Amino acid sequence: MDLEKLCGEKGLKMTEQRRVIARVLSESEDHPDVELLYQRASAVDSKISIATVYRTVRLFEEAGIIEKHDFGDGRARYEPQSDEHHDHLIDLRSGEVVEFTNQQIEKLQEEVAKQLGYRLVDHRLELYCVPLEAKK
Ligand SMILES: [Zn+2]
Repeated sequence: MDLEKLCGEKGLKMTEQRRVIARVLSESEDHPDVELLYQRASAVDSKISIATVYRTVRLFEEAGIIEKHDFGDGRARYEPQSDEHHDHLIDLRSGEVVEFTNQQIEKLQEEVAKQLGYRLVDHRLELYCVPLEAKK
């Protein structure tokens, strides 16, 4: 997902610092929070402040370019908005976030909505897990 390009298409004014933050977000596949984004962005441009990261992330979120998640630890985490839907599994021991899709779950959710008289338009699903056995 090329966030820089998407920002352009959404008509966002792109400063150099916003470009760096957009690039860092594009390259992150681990659903980083602002703190982590700040570490990565300031490694590229040491003049970027955490306040700038906060502001930029909020701007991107409002523009629908990135998606905000709350995986239960009180920290907002972000990922680029994607066309392909996926759900998340959170490993409570390591904090690792695993993406998955399951057609049976997707179908079941639609059916539940339908039974209640609704058409499903969106959903979020998070599985909070501990590993079955210790990873080697
Ligand atoms: Zn994700």
